[in-house]
This record gives sequence, C-alpha cells and structure tokens, in this order.
Amino acid sequence: MALGVDIDGTVCDFVTAAVMAFNRTLDQHIAVEAAYSRYAIQEVYGLDSLEFNGLFQALEADIYLTAPPFRRAQAILRAWATAGEHMTYITTRPWQYHAVTRAWLRRWGFPSGDIVHVRGTADKGPLARALGISTLIDDHPDVFRTCSGTPGLDVVVASQPYNMALPATRRVFWADHLMKGDAIDDYTSIAI
Ligand SMILES: [Mg+2]
Repeated sequence: MALGVDIDGTVCDFVTAAVMAFNRTLDQHIAVEAAYSRYAIQEVYGLDSLEFNGLFQALEADIYLTAPPFRRAQAILRAWATAGEHMTYITTRPWQYHAVTRAWLRRWGFPSGDIVHVRGTADKGPLARALGISTLIDDHPDVFRTCSGTPGLDVVVASQPYNMALPATRRVFWADHLMKGDAIDDYTSIAI
C-alpha cells in the first residue's frame, strides 16, 4: 500500500520548535500547550499575517532543523515500512527546505521515501490520487475537509488538540502530548 504522510504536526513536532524560536526572538514566554490549542501560531503571539510571515521566514530554517520528532510516529512508520508500505512524505514546506527535510527524516530514523512539496493543503488530495496513494495521514483540518470524500483516498487524521473536533472516523495518536492521559500502547489497534 502507498502511504502519503504529512510532516509538520504529523511526524514532526513543529509547534514546539516554532514556540521556542518565537519566544526567543520576541522575548516572550508562550507555553507550547497554548500554541497547540489552535492551529494558527500567529494568533497566540498576537501577530498579523504580515508580521508573522516575515518572522517565520527568518526563523523557518532553524525551526525545521531543531524540531523534535514524534517518536511514536517514527516507531509506527518504521514498522509499516518493514511490512512493505511505501512512504511518500507530502509537505507544504517550500522546496528550498528539501535537503533539510530529508536530512531531518534520516537523522530521526524515519523510513526512507519520496518527499513531495506542494503549494498548499488543497493540492494534497489531487497529488495523492495522481501518485496512487491510497491513505493520506495529516494533522491539518483543511486537508481533512478538502480530501475527505476523494474517491479511492482514505484520509487519516493525525490527532492534535486543534483537530479533535473533526468528524474523522480514522485517526492515529502519535503526538507525545496526547499520550499523557489514555495512552494507546498497542499501535496495531490503530494500524492502517
Ligand atoms: Mg501538518
């Protein structure tokens, strides 16, 4: 089976790295949990889109380099790869971060696979279909909204606080900060 796997917020703890970088740059002390409560980090810092985009672009490389992985995601993807699943990482990160992204995945032990960059979340569904991907794993509410119902494509939500309200029937629970309560120890129960 061919799997499409998002990176930021799905296998990569992008928010933690972003909060550390923004706190350091803006001399603030926003808690990671506060940023995880909503998707738009800019709102947590009270920035408008222009301010946020400028700052983010300045910090982007550092964020991608320093972000920690979700270790459950690593373990589960490795198990699936060993079982013969082919990985295609589909990301909205700009192409200029391709090498950084590939090095990050290798550094943290994620299975090898293709890395495809798309312009926006709405491009993910058509791309997945064009590549013959049958299952797409993503944390972004917009990916769920735009890709659900695509014939032949199963959308699995990578659970995060900001997407728990989505009416998803298929979810994975990979984020460490979701594991503090009801831990799901047997990943086979959520295997796809
Ligand atoms: Mg994402």
